[in-house]
Amino acid sequence: MATKIIKRKELGFWDRTYLPAVGLGLWITSRHFFRNMAVHALHLFGFAKNLRGAETYQYPEEQRPLSKRTRTRHRLTKREDGSPRCVACMMCETVCPARCINIVAKENPDPNIEKMPASFDLDLGMCVYCGYCVEVCPEDAIRMDTRILDIAAYSREGMKLDMQKLLNP
Ligand code: SF4
Ligand code: SF4
Repeated sequence: MATKIIKRKELGFWDRTYLPAVGLGLWITSRHFFRNMAVHALHLFGFAKNLRGAETYQYPEEQRPLSKRTRTRHRLTKREDGSPRCVACMMCETVCPARCINIVAKENPDPNIEKMPASFDLDLGMCVYCGYCVEVCPEDAIRMDTRILDIAAYSREGMKLDMQKLLNP
């Protein structure tokens, strides 16, 4: 296959000084800043309501509204008696592309259910929030609907959730 050689345009004097690029960047930023300031000032006095200024949320006091389908921190759902719905089928652990779920199964005291998790650990520091674990679960036992997004910890250990934390988000 023939190789197409593309010759790069030589940089001119002004390109090498970067001044036009810096000037352009400053102009774009200033244009947005002054436009938004003017629009919000007009809104304060009841004018130009049809013009939309950039919205800034005063996080964390004010939080951006989340879409219903946003995937947030995981939780394990419970049965009516408070036990986990999870039947330790290992489907979520198997499908997880980040390998961040670790389940140890034990026998369920209820004769109608074969197994339940003895431990269920999920490492949020490795999770990529793909939602596969939720989709694959045959029991609707794991969900990502806690609306908790501000997940942070001082250590990697702090990012790990055990079964108690997952059952009581
Ligand atoms: S959301 Fe994806 S990466 Fe995170 S635990 Fe579930 S399957 Fe694994
Ligand atoms: S897929 Fe559902 S039932 Fe199976 S181990 Fe995971 S959470 Fe439990």
